[in-house]
Amino acid sequence: MDPVQLLGLNQAELVQWMEALGEPSYRGRQTFIALHHRRLRLFSEISDLPRALRLTLSESASISTLEVESRYISEDGTRRYLMNTHDHRPVETVFIPDERRDTICFSSQSGCPLQCSFCLTAQLGLLRSLTAAEIVDQIVIALNDAYGPGVAPAHGINLVGMGAGEPFLNFEALMKAISIMADAAGLHIVPNRVTVSTAGIVPRIRELATMPQRPHLAISLAAPTDRLRDELMPINKKWPLDQLLNGCRDFERSLKPGERFTFEYVMLDNVNDSDEQARQLANLLNRHGLRAKVNLIPHNPADPLPYLPSTSERVDRFKEILESKGIHVYVRRPRGRDIYAACGQLAARRSLPEAVVS
Ligand code: SAH
Repeated sequence: MDPVQLLGLNQAELVQWMEALGEPSYRGRQTFIALHHRRLRLFSEISDLPRALRLTLSESASISTLEVESRYISEDGTRRYLMNTHDHRPVETVFIPDERRDTICFSSQSGCPLQCSFCLTAQLGLLRSLTAAEIVDQIVIALNDAYGPGVAPAHGINLVGMGAGEPFLNFEALMKAISIMADAAGLHIVPNRVTVSTAGIVPRIRELATMPQRPHLAISLAAPTDRLRDELMPINKKWPLDQLLNGCRDFERSLKPGERFTFEYVMLDNVNDSDEQARQLANLLNRHGLRAKVNLIPHNPADPLPYLPSTSERVDRFKEILESKGIHVYVRRPRGRDIYAACGQLAARRSLPEAVVS
Protein backbone atom coordinates (compact mmCIF):
# COMPACT_ATOMS: atom_id res chain seq x y z
CA MET A 1 0.00 0.00 0.00
CA ASP A 2 1.20 3.54 -0.78
CA PRO A 3 2.16 5.51 2.31
CA VAL A 4 -0.48 8.00 3.46
CA GLN A 5 0.55 11.56 2.52
CA LEU A 6 0.09 13.19 5.91
CA LEU A 7 0.33 16.80 4.67
CA GLY A 8 -2.93 16.20 2.79
CA LEU A 9 -4.92 15.41 5.96
CA ASN A 10 -6.60 18.14 7.95
CA GLN A 11 -6.29 18.11 11.71
CA ALA A 12 -9.51 16.14 12.27
CA GLU A 13 -8.51 13.54 9.69
CA LEU A 14 -5.05 13.18 11.19
CA VAL A 15 -6.59 12.66 14.65
CA GLN A 16 -8.91 10.01 13.22
CA TRP A 17 -6.05 8.31 11.44
CA MET A 18 -4.01 8.18 14.67
CA GLU A 19 -6.99 6.77 16.53
CA ALA A 20 -7.31 4.05 13.90
CA LEU A 21 -3.70 3.14 14.73
CA GLY A 22 -4.82 2.74 18.36
CA GLU A 23 -3.21 5.98 19.50
CA PRO A 24 -4.81 8.64 21.69
CA SER A 25 -6.27 11.56 19.75
CA TYR A 26 -3.79 14.11 21.14
CA ARG A 27 -1.06 12.33 19.15
CA GLY A 28 -2.88 13.41 16.00
CA ARG A 29 -2.91 17.01 17.14
CA GLN A 30 0.75 16.82 18.16
CA THR A 31 1.69 15.45 14.76
CA PHE A 32 -0.34 18.11 12.94
CA ILE A 33 1.52 20.83 14.85
CA ALA A 34 4.86 19.17 14.16
CA LEU A 35 4.24 18.99 10.40
CA HIS A 36 2.48 22.28 9.77
CA HIS A 37 3.49 24.68 12.54
CA ARG A 38 7.02 23.44 13.26
CA ARG A 39 7.37 22.34 9.63
CA LEU A 40 9.42 19.27 10.56
CA ARG A 41 10.35 17.07 7.62
CA LEU A 42 11.42 13.80 9.23
CA PHE A 43 9.57 11.56 11.68
CA SER A 44 12.81 11.19 13.62
CA GLU A 45 12.68 14.95 14.37
CA ILE A 46 9.28 14.75 16.06
CA SER A 47 10.87 14.09 19.42
CA ASP A 48 7.66 14.54 21.40
CA LEU A 49 6.27 11.33 19.89
CA PRO A 50 7.35 7.97 21.36
CA ARG A 51 10.07 6.26 19.39
CA ALA A 52 7.86 3.23 18.59
CA LEU A 53 5.16 5.47 17.14
CA ARG A 54 7.69 7.35 15.02
CA LEU A 55 8.77 4.03 13.61
CA THR A 56 5.17 2.99 12.84
CA LEU A 57 4.58 6.34 11.16
CA SER A 58 7.65 6.08 8.99
CA GLU A 59 6.48 2.67 7.80
CA SER A 60 2.91 3.64 6.92
CA ALA A 61 3.03 7.34 6.07
CA SER A 62 5.11 10.04 4.43
CA ILE A 63 5.64 13.65 5.40
CA SER A 64 7.05 15.00 2.16
CA THR A 65 6.86 13.37 -1.24
CA LEU A 66 8.46 16.20 -3.23
CA GLU A 67 12.14 16.29 -3.88
CA VAL A 68 13.85 19.57 -4.72
CA GLU A 69 15.92 19.00 -7.83
CA SER A 70 17.26 22.53 -8.21
CA ARG A 71 16.89 25.95 -6.76
CA TYR A 72 17.51 29.07 -8.83
CA ILE A 73 17.97 32.50 -7.26
CA SER A 74 17.22 35.58 -9.33
CA GLU A 75 19.15 38.82 -9.12
CA ASP A 76 15.96 40.35 -7.66
CA GLY A 77 15.89 37.74 -4.86
CA THR A 78 13.10 35.63 -6.37
CA ARG A 79 13.68 31.91 -5.81
CA ARG A 80 12.44 29.22 -8.14
CA TYR A 81 12.29 25.60 -7.02
CA LEU A 82 12.17 22.81 -9.51
CA MET A 83 10.91 19.71 -7.73
CA ASN A 84 9.86 16.20 -8.64
CA THR A 85 6.94 14.18 -7.36
CA HIS A 86 7.49 10.58 -6.21
CA ASP A 87 6.40 9.49 -9.71
CA HIS A 88 8.88 11.89 -11.35
CA ARG A 89 6.55 14.67 -12.49
CA PRO A 90 7.97 18.20 -12.43
CA VAL A 91 6.52 20.73 -9.97
CA GLU A 92 7.56 24.37 -9.78
CA THR A 93 7.22 26.82 -6.95
CA VAL A 94 8.37 30.43 -6.77
CA PHE A 95 9.19 32.52 -3.71
CA ILE A 96 8.92 36.26 -4.35
CA PRO A 97 10.36 38.54 -1.65
CA ASP A 98 8.91 42.00 -1.27
CA GLU A 99 9.36 44.91 1.12
CA ARG A 100 5.88 44.64 2.56
CA ARG A 101 5.02 40.97 2.37
CA ASP A 102 6.55 37.98 0.65
CA THR A 103 4.59 35.78 -1.74
CA ILE A 104 4.77 32.12 -2.65
CA CYS A 105 3.45 31.16 -6.08
CA PHE A 106 2.48 27.49 -6.15
CA SER A 107 1.49 25.04 -8.87
CA SER A 108 -1.77 23.13 -8.89
CA GLN A 109 -0.87 20.68 -11.65
CA SER A 110 2.27 19.21 -13.17
CA GLY A 111 2.11 20.72 -16.65
CA CYS A 112 -1.24 22.11 -17.83
CA PRO A 113 -3.96 20.87 -20.19
CA LEU A 114 -4.90 24.36 -21.43
CA GLN A 115 -3.24 25.47 -24.59
CA CYS A 116 -2.72 29.19 -23.99
CA SER A 117 -0.48 30.26 -26.83
CA PHE A 118 1.58 32.73 -24.77
CA CYS A 119 2.39 30.39 -21.88
CA LEU A 120 5.35 28.06 -21.77
CA THR A 121 3.73 25.60 -19.35
CA ALA A 122 1.21 24.74 -22.08
CA GLN A 123 4.00 23.08 -24.00
CA LEU A 124 4.29 20.37 -21.34
CA GLY A 125 0.66 19.32 -21.66
CA LEU A 126 -0.98 17.92 -18.55
CA LEU A 127 1.17 15.39 -16.72
CA ARG A 128 -1.17 15.10 -13.76
CA SER A 129 -3.04 17.08 -11.11
CA LEU A 130 -1.27 17.48 -7.79
CA THR A 131 -2.62 16.11 -4.53
CA ALA A 132 -3.55 18.40 -1.63
CA ALA A 133 -0.42 17.10 0.15
CA GLU A 134 1.76 18.11 -2.79
CA ILE A 135 0.29 21.60 -2.77
CA VAL A 136 0.89 22.05 0.99
CA ASP A 137 4.35 20.51 0.63
CA GLN A 138 5.40 23.20 -1.86
CA ILE A 139 4.55 25.92 0.66
CA VAL A 140 6.36 24.17 3.53
CA ILE A 141 9.48 23.67 1.40
CA ALA A 142 9.55 27.30 0.24
CA LEU A 143 8.93 28.66 3.77
CA ASN A 144 11.66 26.49 5.31
CA ASP A 145 14.10 27.50 2.61
CA ALA A 146 13.33 31.22 2.76
CA TYR A 147 13.10 31.71 6.53
CA GLY A 148 14.75 28.64 8.05
CA PRO A 149 13.11 25.45 9.29
CA GLY A 150 9.98 26.29 11.27
CA VAL A 151 10.73 30.03 11.40
CA ALA A 152 7.63 32.17 10.91
CA PRO A 153 7.74 34.92 8.26
CA ALA A 154 8.07 38.31 9.97
CA HIS A 155 5.14 39.88 8.12
CA GLY A 156 2.99 36.90 7.22
CA ILE A 157 2.86 35.56 3.72
CA ASN A 158 0.65 35.69 0.63
CA LEU A 159 -0.01 32.67 -1.53
CA VAL A 160 -0.92 32.80 -5.20
CA GLY A 161 -2.12 29.82 -7.20
CA MET A 162 -0.57 31.14 -10.39
CA GLY A 163 2.13 28.58 -11.03
CA ALA A 164 1.85 25.71 -13.45
CA GLY A 165 -1.58 24.26 -14.13
CA GLU A 166 -5.20 25.32 -14.05
CA PRO A 167 -6.24 25.39 -10.37
CA PHE A 168 -9.95 25.09 -11.17
CA LEU A 169 -9.37 21.81 -12.97
CA ASN A 170 -8.02 20.51 -9.65
CA PHE A 171 -10.62 22.21 -7.51
CA GLU A 172 -11.11 19.66 -4.76
CA ALA A 173 -7.42 19.16 -3.93
CA LEU A 174 -6.84 22.91 -4.17
CA MET A 175 -9.63 23.77 -1.73
CA LYS A 176 -8.56 21.00 0.60
CA ALA A 177 -4.98 22.33 0.64
CA ILE A 178 -6.22 25.87 1.26
CA SER A 179 -8.33 24.75 4.21
CA ILE A 180 -5.46 22.69 5.71
CA MET A 181 -3.11 25.68 5.44
CA ALA A 182 -5.67 27.93 7.16
CA ASP A 183 -5.59 25.93 10.42
CA ALA A 184 -4.41 28.18 13.28
CA ALA A 185 -2.52 25.25 14.84
CA GLY A 186 -0.57 24.80 11.60
CA LEU A 187 0.61 27.17 8.88
CA HIS A 188 -2.21 29.58 9.69
CA ILE A 189 -2.37 31.13 6.23
CA VAL A 190 -5.99 32.23 6.01
CA PRO A 191 -7.90 32.16 2.66
CA ASN A 192 -7.91 35.94 2.71
CA ARG A 193 -4.14 35.73 2.08
CA VAL A 194 -4.56 33.40 -0.88
CA THR A 195 -5.35 34.32 -4.51
CA VAL A 196 -6.23 31.73 -7.09
CA SER A 197 -6.00 32.47 -10.79
CA THR A 198 -8.15 30.75 -13.41
CA ALA A 199 -8.24 30.81 -17.18
CA GLY A 200 -12.04 30.88 -16.84
CA ILE A 201 -13.61 27.58 -15.74
CA VAL A 202 -17.04 29.16 -15.31
CA PRO A 203 -18.84 26.47 -13.24
CA ARG A 204 -16.05 26.65 -10.66
CA ILE A 205 -16.21 30.43 -10.52
CA ARG A 206 -19.90 30.05 -9.71
CA GLU A 207 -19.15 27.40 -7.13
CA LEU A 208 -16.51 29.58 -5.49
CA ALA A 209 -19.13 32.32 -5.17
CA THR A 210 -21.16 30.08 -2.84
CA MET A 211 -18.27 29.23 -0.50
CA PRO A 212 -18.06 31.14 2.77
CA GLN A 213 -14.31 30.63 3.35
CA ARG A 214 -12.68 31.26 0.04
CA PRO A 215 -9.53 32.62 -1.53
CA HIS A 216 -9.46 35.74 -3.67
CA LEU A 217 -10.09 35.25 -7.36
CA ALA A 218 -8.11 36.35 -10.42
CA ILE A 219 -9.25 35.69 -13.97
CA SER A 220 -6.92 35.61 -16.95
CA LEU A 221 -8.50 37.53 -19.82
CA ALA A 222 -5.73 38.28 -22.35
CA ALA A 223 -8.14 39.55 -25.01
CA PRO A 224 -11.16 41.83 -25.31
CA THR A 225 -12.94 39.87 -28.07
CA ASP A 226 -13.91 36.23 -28.55
CA ARG A 227 -12.12 36.15 -31.84
CA LEU A 228 -8.74 36.96 -30.34
CA ARG A 229 -9.33 35.08 -27.09
CA ASP A 230 -10.22 31.90 -28.98
CA GLU A 231 -6.82 32.14 -30.55
CA LEU A 232 -4.80 32.99 -27.42
CA MET A 233 -6.75 30.93 -24.89
CA PRO A 234 -8.62 28.06 -26.57
CA ILE A 235 -10.61 27.44 -23.35
CA ASN A 236 -12.60 30.45 -24.58
CA LYS A 237 -14.30 28.20 -27.14
CA LYS A 238 -15.85 26.29 -24.26
CA TRP A 239 -16.71 29.31 -22.09
CA PRO A 240 -16.77 32.43 -24.28
CA LEU A 241 -16.42 35.93 -22.87
CA ASP A 242 -20.13 36.54 -22.38
CA GLN A 243 -20.55 33.42 -20.23
CA LEU A 244 -17.32 34.10 -18.41
CA LEU A 245 -18.21 37.68 -17.59
CA ASN A 246 -21.74 36.74 -16.51
CA GLY A 247 -20.14 34.26 -14.12
CA CYS A 248 -17.83 37.04 -12.92
CA ARG A 249 -20.80 39.33 -12.39
CA ASP A 250 -22.45 36.74 -10.15
CA PHE A 251 -19.18 36.23 -8.34
CA GLU A 252 -18.89 39.97 -7.81
CA ARG A 253 -22.37 40.04 -6.28
CA SER A 254 -21.17 37.54 -3.67
CA LEU A 255 -18.29 39.76 -2.52
CA LYS A 256 -18.32 41.67 0.74
CA PRO A 257 -18.30 45.47 0.51
CA GLY A 258 -14.85 46.75 -0.41
CA GLU A 259 -13.76 43.35 -1.73
CA ARG A 260 -12.68 43.09 -5.35
CA PHE A 261 -11.49 40.50 -7.72
CA THR A 262 -8.91 40.90 -10.45
CA PHE A 263 -8.60 40.43 -14.18
CA GLU A 264 -5.16 39.62 -15.50
CA TYR A 265 -4.28 40.85 -18.94
CA VAL A 266 -0.98 39.67 -20.38
CA MET A 267 0.34 42.34 -22.76
CA LEU A 268 1.61 41.01 -26.07
CA ASP A 269 3.33 43.42 -28.41
CA ASN A 270 1.13 44.23 -31.40
CA VAL A 271 -1.33 41.47 -30.58
CA ASN A 272 -3.65 42.70 -27.82
CA ASP A 273 -2.23 46.09 -26.81
CA SER A 274 -3.71 48.67 -29.22
CA ASP A 275 -5.75 51.75 -28.24
CA GLU A 276 -8.77 50.17 -29.89
CA GLN A 277 -8.35 47.00 -27.81
CA ALA A 278 -8.05 49.04 -24.62
CA ARG A 279 -11.38 50.71 -25.45
CA GLN A 280 -12.94 47.35 -26.30
CA LEU A 281 -11.75 45.92 -22.98
CA ALA A 282 -13.08 48.87 -20.96
CA ASN A 283 -16.42 48.73 -22.77
CA LEU A 284 -16.68 44.99 -22.25
CA LEU A 285 -16.13 45.25 -18.49
CA ASN A 286 -18.40 48.27 -18.16
CA ARG A 287 -21.14 46.62 -20.23
CA HIS A 288 -21.14 43.72 -17.78
CA GLY A 289 -21.20 46.14 -14.87
CA LEU A 290 -17.94 44.81 -13.46
CA ARG A 291 -15.94 46.84 -10.95
CA ALA A 292 -13.02 44.44 -10.91
CA LYS A 293 -9.53 45.82 -11.28
CA VAL A 294 -7.27 44.93 -14.18
CA ASN A 295 -3.66 43.82 -13.70
CA LEU A 296 -1.60 44.39 -16.81
CA ILE A 297 1.24 41.88 -17.08
CA PRO A 298 3.86 42.61 -19.71
CA HIS A 299 4.56 39.31 -21.43
CA ASN A 300 7.53 37.36 -20.10
CA PRO A 301 9.29 36.19 -23.22
CA ALA A 302 10.14 32.54 -23.32
CA ASP A 303 11.70 30.90 -26.27
CA PRO A 304 10.05 29.43 -28.47
CA LEU A 305 6.91 31.50 -27.78
CA PRO A 306 6.26 33.82 -30.73
CA TYR A 307 5.54 36.96 -28.66
CA LEU A 308 7.31 40.03 -27.38
CA PRO A 309 6.30 42.11 -24.37
CA SER A 310 4.47 45.36 -25.10
CA THR A 311 6.68 48.41 -24.78
CA SER A 312 6.34 50.39 -21.58
CA GLU A 313 4.87 53.33 -23.58
CA ARG A 314 2.19 50.98 -24.92
CA VAL A 315 1.44 49.64 -21.43
CA ASP A 316 1.14 53.21 -20.09
CA ARG A 317 -1.16 54.26 -22.92
CA PHE A 318 -3.32 51.15 -22.52
CA LYS A 319 -3.57 51.87 -18.79
CA GLU A 320 -4.50 55.49 -19.44
CA ILE A 321 -7.36 54.52 -21.76
CA LEU A 322 -8.74 51.99 -19.29
CA GLU A 323 -8.52 54.53 -16.47
CA SER A 324 -10.25 57.18 -18.54
CA LYS A 325 -13.19 54.77 -18.70
CA GLY A 326 -13.28 54.25 -14.95
CA ILE A 327 -11.34 51.00 -14.71
CA HIS A 328 -8.85 50.46 -11.88
CA VAL A 329 -5.55 49.36 -13.35
CA TYR A 330 -2.33 48.05 -11.89
CA VAL A 331 0.80 47.24 -13.88
CA ARG A 332 2.53 44.11 -12.60
CA ARG A 333 6.30 44.24 -12.41
CA PRO A 334 7.94 41.07 -13.75
CA ARG A 335 9.89 39.12 -11.13
CA GLY A 336 12.54 36.47 -11.61
CA ARG A 337 12.57 36.63 -15.42
CA ASP A 338 16.29 35.79 -15.50
CA ILE A 339 15.67 32.40 -13.86
CA TYR A 340 12.48 31.59 -15.76
CA ALA A 341 10.42 32.11 -12.62
CA ALA A 342 8.04 34.73 -14.02
CA CYS A 343 4.41 34.14 -15.07
CA GLY A 344 4.14 31.76 -17.97
CA GLN A 345 7.78 30.69 -17.85
CA LEU A 346 7.39 27.56 -15.73
CA ALA A 347 8.11 24.53 -17.82
CA ALA A 348 10.66 22.52 -15.90
CA ARG A 349 13.41 24.38 -17.73
CA ARG A 350 16.77 23.36 -16.37
CA SER A 351 19.30 24.92 -18.70
CA LEU A 352 20.11 28.21 -17.03
CA PRO A 353 23.37 30.01 -16.41
CA GLU A 354 25.35 28.07 -13.78
CA ALA A 355 25.69 31.16 -11.62
CA VAL A 356 22.07 31.13 -10.55
CA VAL A 357 21.92 27.45 -9.66
CA SER A 358 22.62 26.62 -6.04
N1 SAH B 1 -4.06 28.60 -15.37
C1 SAH B 1 -4.20 29.73 -14.50
C2 SAH B 1 -2.99 30.04 -13.64
C3 SAH B 1 -1.62 30.02 -14.27
S1 SAH B 1 -1.13 31.36 -15.29
C4 SAH B 1 -4.60 30.94 -15.32
O1 SAH B 1 -4.62 30.87 -16.53
O2 SAH B 1 -4.94 31.97 -14.74
C5 SAH B 1 -0.93 32.75 -14.26
C6 SAH B 1 -0.97 34.06 -15.05
O3 SAH B 1 0.18 34.20 -15.88
C7 SAH B 1 -2.17 34.15 -15.99
O4 SAH B 1 -2.82 35.36 -15.80
C8 SAH B 1 -1.54 34.09 -17.37
O5 SAH B 1 -2.31 34.81 -18.28
C9 SAH B 1 -0.20 34.73 -17.15
N2 SAH B 1 0.80 34.33 -18.13
C10 SAH B 1 0.95 33.15 -18.75
N3 SAH B 1 2.02 33.18 -19.57
C11 SAH B 1 2.57 34.38 -19.46
C12 SAH B 1 3.73 34.99 -20.01
N4 SAH B 1 4.55 34.34 -20.83
N5 SAH B 1 4.00 36.26 -19.64
C13 SAH B 1 3.23 36.91 -18.76
N6 SAH B 1 2.15 36.38 -18.18
C14 SAH B 1 1.81 35.13 -18.53
